[in-house]
Amino acid sequence: MSLKSKLLASLLLLLAVLGSGIAFIQQTVVIPKVEAFEIDALREDLERIKYGLDRELTHMRRMATDWAQWDDTYDFVVSRTPEYVESALGGDAMEQLSMDMLLITQDEKLVTYQSTRALSSLREPLVSTLLRGPESRLLNEGGQGLIATPAGVMLVAANPILTTEGEGPSRGTLYFGQLIDADLTKQLRPPQIHAIFLRLDSTPPGPDDIQLLPGSDSVSKTWVPLLNDPDRSLQIELQQGRPFLDSMRAYTYYIMGTIFVLGILGSVVTYVLLKHYLLSPIEQLQHNMQSFSTSHSLADIPTTKSSDEIGQLTRSFREMATRISDNHISMLHRQQQLKEQSLTDPLTRLGNRRYLDSRLQQAEFAKKHPYIATFSTDIDHFKQVNDRYGHDNGDKVLREFAEVLQGCCRDDDCVARVGGEEFTAVCGISSIQDASEIAERIRVRTEQKGFVDGKIDLTCSVGFIVIPGHELDTNMETWSRVMKVADLALYEAKESGRNRWVGWRNPLHAEKTIAALPASAEELRQAVQKEALVAIN
Ligand code: GH3
Ligand code: MG
Ligand code: MG
Repeated sequence: MSLKSKLLASLLLLLAVLGSGIAFIQQTVVIPKVEAFEIDALREDLERIKYGLDRELTHMRRMATDWAQWDDTYDFVVSRTPEYVESALGGDAMEQLSMDMLLITQDEKLVTYQSTRALSSLREPLVSTLLRGPESRLLNEGGQGLIATPAGVMLVAANPILTTEGEGPSRGTLYFGQLIDADLTKQLRPPQIHAIFLRLDSTPPGPDDIQLLPGSDSVSKTWVPLLNDPDRSLQIELQQGRPFLDSMRAYTYYIMGTIFVLGILGSVVTYVLLKHYLLSPIEQLQHNMQSFSTSHSLADIPTTKSSDEIGQLTRSFREMATRISDNHISMLHRQQQLKEQSLTDPLTRLGNRRYLDSRLQQAEFAKKHPYIATFSTDIDHFKQVNDRYGHDNGDKVLREFAEVLQGCCRDDDCVARVGGEEFTAVCGISSIQDASEIAERIRVRTEQKGFVDGKIDLTCSVGFIVIPGHELDTNMETWSRVMKVADLALYEAKESGRNRWVGWRNPLHAEKTIAALPASAEELRQAVQKEALVAIN
């Protein structure tokens, strides 16, 4: 995996961790906090409704007190004047008072019952509920509360009937009743609440029940005790939205979106900066190192002025590469020197036996000439030179003889010192005649040379064999046979008096004579007799 891919993967991972972190914080911290806040707010809403009911009851109680301590009411209960009923209670008095029912009793007996039209038919059950229930005594002495009636749950406020100054004795009790109906419910409903239900519940009051529904709704319930029935209650149910949650979600999405966009932008900027300052220089350096490893050329490593770590690394690499390159060059040089040394005769600077072998193993050498003449030369009576003029002069003679030999051959011929004062020359020639000319040239130039500044006169003997170029291959077995015959020819030249050459060729009609070449003096003799080899004159 490349550095670039790793960087991209890391940035994507960072974004994923960032997104997951935000989602985790939202789920574990923000939403629980918002829910706790919502529950408190919903509880307050429920309390507000209960408070609204209390306020209504207090208002009713104040009205009940006003009416019960009104002298006209007092007089009415005492003297039962019908005018009071007509003027104060008749007509649409209930609607004007915003009450559903007015009841005046004396000694637990009904004096008058006034109600809205809706409740007129429920007079008996309502009166009996109020007068005979366990709460009637409480209400007789003045009080207020919720009463379960056959018409539904009713807000009831009562006050003893006294004089205006509030003096007794009480002449009876005045009740105001107001049903919990749609109008009252509407009046109690705060504006943010979608739906409100106030209904008689068949269970006693319990703790508030607040449910936050998964969507954007909530249902909260509370129960208010009834004066006349401990086993039942007034249930208040509110259904409303979850505005806090909605706005929190909107904010969270906004924040998440912003962080995400900023994260992506940050990642892109980080990627571009890291690519520019880190990845590209590293890639460049890696590329340079790779190029250098194959080319060993310092041109593949550009110089840098950057002072950061990569700049320092590049410079260190360049220094290292410079040393490697220098070592490499000197090693190649040394290798070349060793190779040359291993192929060169140190005395004459001619090639040695190894050089000769390696040249002969090159296929092109023999094939590109019609004939190949292989000469074996040896200085005559060389031992005497050493004996007479000293070994150093002997060495000089050898060097000069090497020059003579080289001078008799062409540049691309192969001349080598193969023994003490034995030299081999392998020359490409175009006709057999060329071979005897070369041999004669060697002989004559040696004879006429005057070695060591003319102090020493010498002769040499030459033996050679000519083979058609196409018959020769790169096999050293072939060449050793060829050179063996050249040696035999040299031997023949020595034997027949020195300062001469002896050369042979295979018969012109023969094919593939290499295998038939003689390997000894005896075989040579036989070969000459059988005319398997022909002497060159
Ligand atoms: P021939 O005519 O039969 O060749 O007689 P020769 O005296 O030349 O006999 P041979 O070729 O056998 O002798 C070679 C002599 O060359 C023997 C040795 O002392 C001498 N020699 C060999 N290598 C060197 C060398 O590197 N320097 C010197 N100065 N002499 C060498
Ligand atoms: Mg010799
Ligand atoms: Mg010799």
